[in-house]
Amino acid sequence: MSRIAYVNGRYVPHAQARVHIDDRGYQFGDGIYEVCAVRGGHMIDNGPHLDRLERSLREMAMAMPMSRAALECVMRETIRRNLVRDGIVYLQMTRGVAPRDHAFPKHPKTQIVVTARNAKPHAAAMVEDGVKAIVQPDIRWGRCDIKTISLLPNCIAKQAARVAGAYEAILVDENGVVTEGSSSNAWIVTQDGKLVTRPPSNDILNGITRLEIIRIAKALGLAFEERAFTLDEMRRAREAFVTSASSFAMPVTQLDEAPIANGKPGTLALRLRAAYLAHMDQQAGAA
Ligand code: PMP
Repeated sequence: MSRIAYVNGRYVPHAQARVHIDDRGYQFGDGIYEVCAVRGGHMIDNGPHLDRLERSLREMAMAMPMSRAALECVMRETIRRNLVRDGIVYLQMTRGVAPRDHAFPKHPKTQIVVTARNAKPHAAAMVEDGVKAIVQPDIRWGRCDIKTISLLPNCIAKQAARVAGAYEAILVDENGVVTEGSSSNAWIVTQDGKLVTRPPSNDILNGITRLEIIRIAKALGLAFEERAFTLDEMRRAREAFVTSASSFAMPVTQLDEAPIANGKPGTLALRLRAAYLAHMDQQAGAA
């Protein structure tokens, strides 16, 4: 089956999908994006994802190129045309095409690209054994709350993880405090059984999966604390995991070369993962 991309009002074969070389996304990384999980052909948590998209646009002083309802139609149609059952839909908006100049163009026209693809289910071993993560310095900018396509520091950290045979890089600031993963939010369960993740601020992306896991944790009555934690605490934690639209909740059982706790996925991590999968299935079934 040939893949189809949506580019500025047209559905085109993926291999022929193009943007102009003067697109500010290409020139400056001047754009934003969203990734929504697709389950059973349905978008998961598209409402919160589009809320965050609109927030990113506002923070970047970019205009929404179409109504939210129209955008949802395009996302659904892209999923449909690509026969996506379980995977992701990707949406990117840039500040448009203009002669190269750092300052914003006077009359920018937001450019939009939507793609969708199936994703392989996570290997059973990843969930049963947990994954390895490595520690990397957080060298990003001061507005990590905006879901910008300028992802070079994240790419560098993820590449370091790949080279080390790890799934994710855990980013740590100059004070030894964990910010988040290179493409995920970071969580621990402390030795006294408290679930901890960092509160939203300019230092992290407020993950939509993170928000749903918080909702689930509260509904389950788990002891939960929204606060920053140090790398040292993470190394000594009873459990660790990361969350994102493509990882769901993924147990982390090794940090650099040392196991976390006994090196096995934690009970809370697995419980929250199962509850999150049920949340996705429920949305897919109800849609
Ligand atoms: N932090 C970063 C830096 C990310 O790139 C992502 C995934 N895009 C997340 C957190 C998790 O966000 P979400 O749960 O919305 O996928």
